Amino acid sequence: MQQYQLYIDGQWRAPASGQWFDSINPYTGEAWCRIPRGTAGDVDAAARAAHRAMHEGEWATITATQRGHRLRRLGDLLAARAEHLARIEVQDNGKLLAEMLNQCRYLTEWFHYFGGLADKIEGSVPPIDKADVLNFTRHEPIGVTACITPWNSPLLLMAWKVAPALAAGNAVVIKPSEFTSASTLEFARVCEEAGLPAGLVNVVTGYGAEAGEPLVGHPLVRKIAFTGGESGGRHVNIAAARDFKHTTLELGGKSANIVLDDARLDDAVSGAISGIFAATGQTCIAGSRLLLHERIHDQFLDKLLALASQARFGDPMDAGTQIGPVTTEPQFRKVVDYLRIAKEEGARCVMGGEVAPQPPGARGFFVQPTIFADVKPDMRIAQEEVFGPVLSVIRFASDEEAIRIANSTNYGLAAGVWTESLRRAVNFSKQLQAGTVWVNTYRSTSYTTPFGGVKASGLGRENGMDAIREYLQTKSVWFYT
Ligand code: NAD
Repeated sequence: MQQYQLYIDGQWRAPASGQWFDSINPYTGEAWCRIPRGTAGDVDAAARAAHRAMHEGEWATITATQRGHRLRRLGDLLAARAEHLARIEVQDNGKLLAEMLNQCRYLTEWFHYFGGLADKIEGSVPPIDKADVLNFTRHEPIGVTACITPWNSPLLLMAWKVAPALAAGNAVVIKPSEFTSASTLEFARVCEEAGLPAGLVNVVTGYGAEAGEPLVGHPLVRKIAFTGGESGGRHVNIAAARDFKHTTLELGGKSANIVLDDARLDDAVSGAISGIFAATGQTCIAGSRLLLHERIHDQFLDKLLALASQARFGDPMDAGTQIGPVTTEPQFRKVVDYLRIAKEEGARCVMGGEVAPQPPGARGFFVQPTIFADVKPDMRIAQEEVFGPVLSVIRFASDEEAIRIANSTNYGLAAGVWTESLRRAVNFSKQLQAGTVWVNTYRSTSYTTPFGGVKASGLGRENGMDAIREYLQTKSVWFYT
């Protein structure tokens, strides 16, 4: 079985703890590789290496244009290694191979786009109400950046952070989830192959409490980009506030996918299914609440059930598989618990609702894709993030009621609205409390478009021009002439 090493200061190293833990393939239920158990000493070495790389090494002296070239070269190499990275992540995370191949080819775009922005970070010359004075602003890198990622999309969410952080001139220490670390360590191999300076990109694997917390608290770390759950995000935010560190927090969601009575129902059915069942429901943007106008409710539910019940379970490596396993055993237990809670609350289970039989040869974490109807907006199943293939269907009678229900959770990551009326679409897009609103589509994201949440879904934005500003701080320079 492959035993990985930490990647610190351009070298592959054993963890200071001398310990490794198993990474489990969620389809077979078996260990498939061993991950180093990084702790505070490794974090310290990585943060120091990143600080040196940023302030003393080549990264401190090369031009912004050269920095951009280096990132674009890394993007090219990622494209060449896309299939390898995709297969590693499928073994670790259970996402479908077809989806991962697309995602890994797409990763390149983050390094090309942000590489292209590296030499377009412009300051300004504000007009000053004093004679003989020139004032200009510079946007400078913040410092060593901690990139902390969850298990549901390790490579993609890493790229969302690392590409803008490096383009802005920072160095990074990446702490992937303890459940899915292998693909990030493989990414480090690509950085090595791309000839990035030693210490510019470091990967310290390990548990949240043992590697994540020391990283957040490390005095040399000045910026934390975190994607994860609400509780982890709160911890990180409090710890960061203690030392006035910059943060970007991408947290959970309970997004509403809203179908109005004038929608094209077949399109909306497909959008509802991919909204909740893609990646086995383990996406932060999952459209886990489906709000149906009472006039189309029954017809829509029939169509939804007809299509959703055809989904095929299986090995995520097989092209014919449509639903793969839940990624981790704790998450599997959490989803199963919510199936029980929803039934106890009185939600009507119209599809699934149980642990799924294992596909041939598997001993993984399979849950039936599940649809609950007659869900009331204040039920736990309608308020709390399940992060699994579980859809709550809620009926509404007016646009005002739909907006009120959609906004009635602590979260505010995304929302979808399906309608043929421009006026209603504009109204919903203004009123919905969410960082992203999709009209007649669901789940689209792009490296060019800001992404992030409101309320408990997070702070700050990833992707697009907004993202690079998250990794910069402004300095004003005054001259008396
Ligand atoms: P998690 O919060 O348990 O862990 C995320 C990462 O933080 C892991 O690497 C973990 O080891 C680390 N960590 C945990 N506690 C920490 C601490 N106190 N200090 C520092 N690091 C710590 O989340 P998860 O279960 O891995 O991921 C699922 C969650 O991520 C869901 O809530 C999902 O909605 C959210 N998510 C959000 C987005 C988004 O962009 N908004 C995208 C994907 C996933």
